[in-house]
Amino acid sequence: MRRLLAVTVAAALLAMPAPAALADPAPPARDFGNGPERNEVAAGVPEQAAALDARAMPEAQPYGHSRERGYPRRTRLPLPPENPADSSIKLGLVPYHGIAPKLNELQQRSNRVSVEIIGRSYQGRDLYLVTVTEPESEARAREQERIRERIEHDPAAAARDRWLAAQYKAPIFINANIHGNEWEGTDASLRTIEQLATSKDPAVASLLARNRLYFNVTANPDGRVNGVRQNGAGFDLNRDFVTASQPEARAMRQAIMDTQPVALVDLHGYVNGTLIEPTTPPHGANYEYDLFITNTYANGLGMEAAVNALGYTPEKDGVEPVQIPFRDSTDGWDDWPPIFTPQYAPFHGTVAAHTVEIPLDVNEPAYSNEPVEELRRRSAINTDVAAAAVRATYGFVQARHDRLIADQIEVFRRGAAGEPAKEVPLGIVPGFGPEDVYTTTFPRAYVIPAGSGQRSATAAARLVDHLVANDVRVERARSAFRSGGRTYPAGSYVVDMRQPKRGLANVMLEPGADISPRVGAMYDISGWSHALLWGATVEPVESLRARTEPVRAAAPTGSVPRTPGALALEVGDAKEVRALNDLLAQGIAVTWDDGTAIVPATARQAARTVADRYGVAFTPAGTATGTPLAPVRVAAAASADELFTLRELGFPVTPVSTAVLNAGFDWSATDVLYVSSGLSHAALNPAARTALEAFLATGGVITRGRTGATFNTAAGLLTATTVAGNADGNGVVRVVSADDGLPGHSFVYSPLWFTGLGPEVTVEQSYAADGPLVAGHWRPREDGSGGGQEQARGQAAVVSGRDERGAAVVLFGTEPMFRNHPKGLFAQVAGALYWSSSVTGAAVTTP
Ligand SMILES: [Zn+2]
Repeated sequence: MRRLLAVTVAAALLAMPAPAALADPAPPARDFGNGPERNEVAAGVPEQAAALDARAMPEAQPYGHSRERGYPRRTRLPLPPENPADSSIKLGLVPYHGIAPKLNELQQRSNRVSVEIIGRSYQGRDLYLVTVTEPESEARAREQERIRERIEHDPAAAARDRWLAAQYKAPIFINANIHGNEWEGTDASLRTIEQLATSKDPAVASLLARNRLYFNVTANPDGRVNGVRQNGAGFDLNRDFVTASQPEARAMRQAIMDTQPVALVDLHGYVNGTLIEPTTPPHGANYEYDLFITNTYANGLGMEAAVNALGYTPEKDGVEPVQIPFRDSTDGWDDWPPIFTPQYAPFHGTVAAHTVEIPLDVNEPAYSNEPVEELRRRSAINTDVAAAAVRATYGFVQARHDRLIADQIEVFRRGAAGEPAKEVPLGIVPGFGPEDVYTTTFPRAYVIPAGSGQRSATAAARLVDHLVANDVRVERARSAFRSGGRTYPAGSYVVDMRQPKRGLANVMLEPGADISPRVGAMYDISGWSHALLWGATVEPVESLRARTEPVRAAAPTGSVPRTPGALALEVGDAKEVRALNDLLAQGIAVTWDDGTAIVPATARQAARTVADRYGVAFTPAGTATGTPLAPVRVAAAASADELFTLRELGFPVTPVSTAVLNAGFDWSATDVLYVSSGLSHAALNPAARTALEAFLATGGVITRGRTGATFNTAAGLLTATTVAGNADGNGVVRVVSADDGLPGHSFVYSPLWFTGLGPEVTVEQSYAADGPLVAGHWRPREDGSGGGQEQARGQAAVVSGRDERGAAVVLFGTEPMFRNHPKGLFAQVAGALYWSSSVTGAAVTTP
């Protein structure tokens, strides 16, 4: 059995006066951590406004993109309330509440425009997907969908079909405003939609007869309204594609899968001169990069020509010439992690995908400091530049229509055939050298075992559902099978790498690679792994002979035994944490016994409900008893992703900061303080320090990162010296834990370790002596001051202890809740919270 926290020991400590605990040179070993967690009519002129009465249009409901209805799909978008505070207004741009009326009007004026609501933002705003195409009968639309499916599911036959490209409308996807304070992609999209909708130019009619243009008009309406990069939950949506923690990212993912674009442009700001991808190395190893770079570079050059042809100059307008990182830079703007829109879409068949950074800065501090006229001048130019990029792209697709479709088919064909990764020939485009070559080796399959070979059935189900949501094919073994000298039981999941979207499957399930030796600087993260960080056992295998059936959803994992009596829940995964916190919130008298929650027989119905809701499995508790447990109330000075994760886990969380504490924070409803951001002990006023001291007599503290470690020292908590690794270092690391129930891997960003540990301090987790980096980028600092992974070997990554006041403290040098990604690590944080709270008695009531 995995030990989560030893409440027996904790209870014993409770009875001990603090000095005695201090005097003990070898405090009892305490575990806080835990384990796992898309007729062609004679096109022509658009209908006139008089032809349609808006009130006769069906009201749009959020249902997602329909693949089989004809076009146009006139819908009447509900109108959001006017918001005079919308940040777009100052720039002379369209505020969020102005988009729906505009799109309703365009749907009335033109039979080329259709709008669907594909989801809602975190703060509840509708997300609009606009399709611009010549009208299609339902039969024509169904035919398009059949071709799309054939391209994906039977690419070898599609490749042989000489008539396919002539029949198929190439999908083009424009993604705008994913960063809320990079506004003008939206305005350029609306302008382009109107021009295409109302144009009488035969070239436009021809364009819309052979292609469909999709516009995600604002991918991040919360951010647009609020004038910030992130969505309403504080998440950068253009980092969320591997995780899809946010509703906007899930809506984009679904829209990309449903539309299967051959080309995609993601509109950003601000880089002067306009930055247009393709990127520098390193290049993602799971793409069919020969197809990708050829098309992406060609369209990049086309966009460059279109933007430069606008005639804006450095002297007259402050607009520098276009830059293309692949051509113009060595490193620092890469396509390694599949967390960005143009780096995610290629796994769904996009063969030309670009970030475009429009030139003139209008976000903070310019937004606040520049005169309104100057801001509006800049935004008007930015809108022109974004519109030029979009225009170049649809011109490119029109010109290269058949080839782009053929290349998309080829991506899926290679995957389905299980061909080895193709090494890209040097010079395939000018400047493509050895430094651009990244390859991977695909295993025959990945197995996610059932039964005792699986460390967490709940985590396995979560991973399978995530893969399926990403359109990765997962199968379930109907009977036991052997592979690689092992027998896998019936019910084991199999991800056959002979599948059209094998690149996406592999980029999630392979460990990744340590690219530190090859690259000087990275733009963002360099490591991720759903296999190593999501709590489930995943095994690559080199042979596959199994009777399988397709999986649409993971099999239910929740259960409650029939035997009467108390129930036990081993708490080793985020889902189990959520279930336990749900039971605690209901006031159920749960007790805690060595990492296992004991639920009384009287709460059987509540146990059944959480077993169903979270997929957790209860077992008979037998005679186990344990120590009473109460909800752990957390005051958190933390980053937005951590707040989101703590709440997702079901902890009651109150955000705090230096300012909140200085204003006289009431600590009476807090059991544990979590510190990683926005709290400086040195900046606390005397009253706030006094109140904190009083809290520390009965409460616990969990810290993460440099801010947390600084707080530890300033507050005089644990005796430990914090050593900072290279602040750019990040990725998946191998770790060794005191509790063998904990995962063997963790995640770091700006890693820390702890030396000079006092006798009250216990090492809970260390960086492995080999590596420790498994996947990512982690070099020593350039100035010779160390901080590389070599210096971290064997060093303490997570420590715990009780300070002289009795406060139970845990220091994290790792980052277990980073962007809500490493789901298998969340329970380690929960374990720390339960432990800290229990030891100090805050959440444990006397039996
Ligand atoms: Zn951006």
